[in-house]
Amino acid sequence: MKAVRLHAKNDIRIDEIEKPKPKAGEILIKIGAAGVCHSDLHLIHMGIPDGAPPFTLGHENAGWIAELGEGVTDFQIGEAVMVYGPWGCGHCAPCQQSMENYCEHQSKSPILGGGLGTNGGMAEYMIVPSSRLLIPLHELQPEQVAPLSDAALTPYHAIKRSSSKITPSSFVFVIGIGGLGHMAVQILKKVYSATIIAGDIADDKLELAKKYGADYVVRTDRDTNSVVEEITHITGVKKCAVVLDFVGNNPTLVLGAQTVGLNGDWTVVGLGGGKLDWHCMNQPWGASLCTPYWGSRVELMEVLDLKRKGLIDIEYTTYPLSQALEIYDKLAKGQIKGRAVLTP
Ligand code: NAD
Ligand code: ZN
Repeated sequence: MKAVRLHAKNDIRIDEIEKPKPKAGEILIKIGAAGVCHSDLHLIHMGIPDGAPPFTLGHENAGWIAELGEGVTDFQIGEAVMVYGPWGCGHCAPCQQSMENYCEHQSKSPILGGGLGTNGGMAEYMIVPSSRLLIPLHELQPEQVAPLSDAALTPYHAIKRSSSKITPSSFVFVIGIGGLGHMAVQILKKVYSATIIAGDIADDKLELAKKYGADYVVRTDRDTNSVVEEITHITGVKKCAVVLDFVGNNPTLVLGAQTVGLNGDWTVVGLGGGKLDWHCMNQPWGASLCTPYWGSRVELMEVLDLKRKGLIDIEYTTYPLSQALEIYDKLAKGQIKGRAVLTP
């Protein structure tokens, strides 16, 4: 079968590999679709950990059960499923509470999930190590929902942490309206009541933010002081109760620090590698800086329920697996609207 493999730093190839066979306890998934996340670009630029074998990319996966390993009895062949992406030990307290994104043993393992240190879903088939990592899709189609497993789950989790601060009178600033950011805008619009300000460096991304309910849009690729001025003109002196940064580079960190309000939440999701010369007086009193990671399995079930209720919808374009390299190139150049999804 064909698979999009990371071989080394900046070296991805479409290889022909053998269809895997599930061992006891494992499940073979026939992939319906795999989302293309910006985190893959960071991974491609960093390369695989020393000594690790090449692996198949793709950590936003959905498909159908193709084969059950010995002892797996809780799913049926042909059933449509979503793969819960963060794979923990399954045993520690956070894992038992469905928060495998915060597995206590994460730092000890080079494998964060399928497509993140071991084979993922940019292939015709993928092995999932345990049925606890699968969620039945019922009537939903894999292609419609695969990217929700990260592009919607991650902002959902980040926003939920700050839910007590997202009131009808508060402002939330969403920076970076890509795959994750355009889902954040929808979740804020449909589940919460705050006023949404969206920031990006491209007009087409800001159009997307408006389409999904942003109340204000701001171009951020100019002098930071003038961006901060524009935002405080909207919010008044109190500034933003929550800043959600889906970029995380130097300019957006500076912007976040200057637009979050007193006692606000400054949430950096983007892995843009930004550095900030932090000292205790450069953010407002009481403000919390947090760096949430992905989301829990239960939260993913809630995200799927939002989709079932018609409250959220991912803006996506489908491409064949054979175009993966071209799509990563487009993503790096900011030419993907919403999410790109690969189908085998
Ligand atoms: P994406 O490429 O789809 O979107 C990024 C958006 O940011 C684009 O619209 C781009 O125009 C915009 N942008 C770039 N520079 C900007 C700037 N200076 N100011 C404002 N906007 C700017 O990316 P994505 O897949 O949505 O991922 C976003 C980030 O979140 C990535 O860094 C990714 O690695 C990270 N991520 C983190 C987690 C986590 O759990 N913490 C999970 C998934 C993704
Ligand atoms: Zn664990």
